[in-house]
Amino acid sequence: MTDSAQQAPYTTNNAGIPVESDEHSLTIGDTGPILLQDHYLIEKMAQFNRERVPERVVHAKGGGAYGFFEVTNDVSQFTKADLFQPGRRCEMLARFSTVAGEQGSPDTWRDPRGFALKFYTEHGNYDLVGNNTPVFFVRDPQKFQDFIRSQKRHPRTGLRNNDMQWDFWTLSPESAHMVTWLMGDRGIPKTWRHMNGYSSHTYMWVNQGGERFWVKYHIKTDQGIEFLTQAEADELAGSDADKHRRDLFESIESGDAPSWTMKVQVMPFEDAADYRFNPFDLTKVWPHGDYPLIDVGRMTLNKNPEDFFVHIEQAAFEPSNLVPGIGPSPDKMLLGRLFSYPDTHRYRIGPNYAQLPPNRPRSPVNSYAKDGPMRYEPSRTAAVYAPNSYGGPAADTARFGDPAGWAAAGEMVREAYKLHREDDDWGQAGTMVRQVLDDAARDRLVSNVSGHLSQGLSRPVLDRALVYWRNIDKETGDRIATRVNGG
Ligand code: NDP
Repeated sequence: MTDSAQQAPYTTNNAGIPVESDEHSLTIGDTGPILLQDHYLIEKMAQFNRERVPERVVHAKGGGAYGFFEVTNDVSQFTKADLFQPGRRCEMLARFSTVAGEQGSPDTWRDPRGFALKFYTEHGNYDLVGNNTPVFFVRDPQKFQDFIRSQKRHPRTGLRNNDMQWDFWTLSPESAHMVTWLMGDRGIPKTWRHMNGYSSHTYMWVNQGGERFWVKYHIKTDQGIEFLTQAEADELAGSDADKHRRDLFESIESGDAPSWTMKVQVMPFEDAADYRFNPFDLTKVWPHGDYPLIDVGRMTLNKNPEDFFVHIEQAAFEPSNLVPGIGPSPDKMLLGRLFSYPDTHRYRIGPNYAQLPPNRPRSPVNSYAKDGPMRYEPSRTAAVYAPNSYGGPAADTARFGDPAGWAAAGEMVREAYKLHREDDDWGQAGTMVRQVLDDAARDRLVSNVSGHLSQGLSRPVLDRALVYWRNIDKETGDRIATRVNGG
């Protein structure tokens, strides 16, 4: 037996060397100066100073768990993606989050929730990085940074600022559908277990025969939709800021594993060209009546991570992780995100983030990438360049060579899709208010919006906000105006 195996665990430094004390620094006499040779003390102080990686610029506060995904319906006519073939089951990781709040901010602030999934498939990681909303505030990545800044803190005061939020929203009418959604009941889920996830974006599926389809994912909670009222959420923000993170952890820990049913809407490839509005516009849903939901499978989260930082803080989801049989669509927001996610991971946790435990594929990695900070897995290729004569990997173009894509041609422009310039920004928001919400939900919407508008808006922004709500629904706008004007 080795010496260390015979002993109770003793403290070591990071190099595994036994330390002399957990409590006392090395000094000259009991009142003397601390010695530079107290390497263990210096290591502790230096390590502590470096314990944080930068928090995510968006979706900073979250939590997550591991689980599995199983296919329950045959969708092979639409996609050849291995993970969606009949009978398949794969391991997965999910992370839920708020968007604008920082680490430590309350889970129950009104905000969309991130709904990020990573499936460890036979063909590498498939990431579906959605939200609990089927739409989004903007449709062009050119506006994303501006949008997020308007939701974060004011540069002078360091405070959240409703005037910035409504200023941006009312100058960006494409936000109307998402803002209506956010201000309604689902803007504050009761827990992460009680909300749906949506891809929001449209993706492409390709089947074995090369036939292409457009799809939107709907990941419906099996726990049922439940929400918090503004008053309940405000109370919880003070009494239990980590309410949603705690709920997910404790529920899984007690053996109550939450699950969601994955469904898709499938649009035949050719339908997109003359659909009555732009089907790739992230601010719009495809009505269920046009494209009904089709079952795919079920995901179950049953395993809490053994270390929050390692598995959740260092988790890196990226919509660019698309496996054979799945591709992007002309949704400009999606195309922008394909760059921005891996870029933020390289900055936040380093260029070798794909080697970290939550991000490491469970299938073979035969990449020619090498070196860089914190790389610890040796190269698995027999040569460091391609082509080579020494047995290094070669792309299997016969099996994987066809990109999931579409035809595109034309002059370079900065403009909206020509076919859909006349698409309207208010219609689907109005449909939600008039046809989806019941009277009680409409009352809560009016109360939530008027409460929000009553906090620090300048008169011009407030006036624009009232016009904005009348454009969504005249009656709802009038009721909000009466409330904020003290009626
Ligand atoms: P449907 O009547 O078929 O669908 C309405 C959907 O609204 C429901 O299925 C439900 O989505 C969702 N919903 C119910 N209550 C709320 C709420 N308080 N806040 C947000 N969403 C809610 O109609 P259509 O498909 O024709 O869509 C009508 C409107 O419904 C749309 O303009 C859109 O605003 C909204 N909606 C549509 C979705 C879609 O993908 N078609 C998805 C979500 C909302 P779910 O079943 O996903 O829980």
